[in-house]
Amino acid sequence: MHIELWWLLLIPAVFFTLGWVAARIDIRQLLTEARELPRTYFEGLNHLLNDEPEKAINAFMVAADKDKDSKSLDLHFALGTLFRRQGEFSRAIRIHKSLLERPSLTKEERERAQFELAQDFHRAGLLDRAEKIFQELEGAKFEGRALNDLLEIYETEKKWTEAIRVRKQMDDLAKTPSFKEIAQYYCELAQEAIVEGNLDAAREHLEHAFEEHRGCARAYLLKGDIAFTRNFTDKALSIWGSIASHAPGSLGLAADRVMKLFRDCESEEQRLHGIRLLASWQQEHPSPDIFTAVFELSRSFEPVEKTIRRIKDEIDKRPSLINLNHLLDMQILNAQSQAEQQNLAQVKELITPYLKKTGFYRCSYCGFRSRNYYWRCPGCQKWETTNAHRNDISEGFNH
Ligand SMILES: [Zn+2]
Repeated sequence: MHIELWWLLLIPAVFFTLGWVAARIDIRQLLTEARELPRTYFEGLNHLLNDEPEKAINAFMVAADKDKDSKSLDLHFALGTLFRRQGEFSRAIRIHKSLLERPSLTKEERERAQFELAQDFHRAGLLDRAEKIFQELEGAKFEGRALNDLLEIYETEKKWTEAIRVRKQMDDLAKTPSFKEIAQYYCELAQEAIVEGNLDAAREHLEHAFEEHRGCARAYLLKGDIAFTRNFTDKALSIWGSIASHAPGSLGLAADRVMKLFRDCESEEQRLHGIRLLASWQQEHPSPDIFTAVFELSRSFEPVEKTIRRIKDEIDKRPSLINLNHLLDMQILNAQSQAEQQNLAQVKELITPYLKKTGFYRCSYCGFRSRNYYWRCPGCQKWETTNAHRNDISEGFNH
């Protein structure tokens, strides 16, 4: 019994010794690994953290040269990305090409190197070479991202048929429908056909646009344009007017076409019909563009007093700086004395600085604003994000 107790006293010492040995082994292991990592890695990291990408690249290049086995794969990928971000495309291309020459790459590593190389070509503006590699990545792990890049290339090059195919592939992969964008591509094709005078082809593209998106306002505008070109005026009016039921928020985009159609009519009765039509649109779906069309048409043949009454009625319902300006223009024309004319001109001068801040269409996604309406926002490159209503009250007066 005495001997067993003595042994028990030794147990803590044994465990201490085992722990000490284990710790020594770990430390040795760590030291070995740390020696394997060149100091330049840490220098590179340090430069990256200090937002010094150029110095980081130099440090990593030295590290990569020292370490040419497969362990440096990630380092090469990181370097390639850094070069690309710095705009040094030829160096990025060189790195990714040299990676692709390694026979030991796994399938996934090879595809990753291909994807990176294709991105280098894309950013460098070598679109044909980028396109070819992105196409090869079909079915690969990077397919989704490759399709995104491919779509960007086709949109840049206005290859709308290819863009439609890629969008459909993307829809199948991500299950996120992009029918609006596909309808826009068909409209682009239709527009090209109209410019070439191939109206039948244009109509066919538009039918595809409607199949994708029944509420595609642009397709109705173009379909109406085709009918108008073929001298089917009533049909054109009816097609443009059908935007009211399919995409009411965009009806204003048709107003200018309708106004021009009636302004050129010989018969006063027809022009009056035009004003009534536009006024009914304005009643149902008010928009600054529709009222501007009413005003322009009224000014072209109605008595000044009548036009003034129309503007005043509109301002009563929807105060607008643009219409106030129209009213002043008409009142100046109708002034009974020189003094009255001068007073009105002074008021007009007062509102001019604010008027310059009106009449813009604005993208609801990025805020880009322009006096022209764009189906694809030049700011964020998104389709149909621009509101079809111009701002008719100067910013700052909206509150
Ligand atoms: Zn935008």
